[in-house]
Amino acid sequence: MLHDAIVIGGSFAGLSAATYIARGRRTVAIIDTGLPRNRFAAHSHGFLGQDGSEPGAILVTARAQVEAYPTVSFISGEAISVSGARDGFVVKLADGTEVEGRRIVLAFGVSDSLPDLPGLRERWGNSVIHCPYCHGFEFSGQQLGVLNMHPRSSHQVQLISEWGPTTFYLNGGEIADDARGELEKRGVAIESRPVTALHGEGKSLSAIEFADGTERAIDALYIGAPTRLNSSIAAELGCAMEEGQVGPFIRTDGMKMTSVPGVYAAGDITRAMHNVTFAASDGVMAGVAVHASLIF
Ligand SMILES: Cc1cc2nc3c(=O)[nH]c(=O)nc-3n(C[C@H](O)[C@H](O)[C@H](O)COP(=O)(O)OP(=O)(O)OC[C@H]3O[C@@H](n4cnc5c(N)ncnc54)[C@H](O)[C@@H]3O)c2cc1C
Repeated sequence: MLHDAIVIGGSFAGLSAATYIARGRRTVAIIDTGLPRNRFAAHSHGFLGQDGSEPGAILVTARAQVEAYPTVSFISGEAISVSGARDGFVVKLADGTEVEGRRIVLAFGVSDSLPDLPGLRERWGNSVIHCPYCHGFEFSGQQLGVLNMHPRSSHQVQLISEWGPTTFYLNGGEIADDARGELEKRGVAIESRPVTALHGEGKSLSAIEFADGTERAIDALYIGAPTRLNSSIAAELGCAMEEGQVGPFIRTDGMKMTSVPGVYAAGDITRAMHNVTFAASDGVMAGVAVHASLIF
């Protein structure tokens, strides 16, 4: 069967795109491995009407609503390659299945490369966080920290200090005198010792440990982890890329079309700033653009 569109990635961006394609009464296949980026977080914040909901619960409802359209098919599996061209793409899955479609929407998301610090990974999305708009309000006025991970970390510290008393953990790194002066003006404490572990009950955080064995109290640690695209499909298709602050993303135009005719992209893979609302909005734009491209 030749689908009007194939969506690779069935989360916030992909399901939004598929919804609009289906509402345009076109056939769409959604291929998904079921690993949305925010699956580590107990709560999702800032998405209108869903503030505080469990991320997986939002997606269960969304997927059920999308699957109810008669022109939608959902395939659980991993897309490993896309061949062909506009009006005749073939997506190959890891199990060898092939799915054919006239348009492609890439919505396979990004992953975070977390630092190898004992106690960090298990707290990711709960008390080790990346975005103050997603989780910062819940730690208002508490002991906050930012781990030095890249040259822009000192900029991140300035933002985070809006939410409460903040310490910049240089982790053995250096800070320029002018940046240090700027942070001190804002009342940010600067700690230079190397950090060796995080401690706390369950997924919460209560202490950060240094190489000399001493500890300091902390409630939330922010990190600016580098991101990578979840699939090499965009690169293999020849989609033009851009470099964001924490990782690469796919260049798209105002209609979310990539530099490759017939290939659209949406969500975290297409932008420097990431959240669920942007991903859903991108998906809507891509879905509408795919539909229009099938008509005009
Ligand atoms: C810890 C954490 C907490 C967050 N909290 C918030 C929050 O509170 N509020 C907020 O607005 N944002 C939050 N975010 C950001 C949010 O998770 C992302 O912006 C959002 O998930 C992006 O949606 P997406 O559809 O682009 O990608 P994703 O949600 O990452 O979905 C990509 C989908 O594609 C699938 N996939 C990947 N590769 C393939 C392949 N080859 N074939 C088929 N399927 C594939 C994946 O399994 C996944 O289902 C958080 C992020 C993190 C890391």
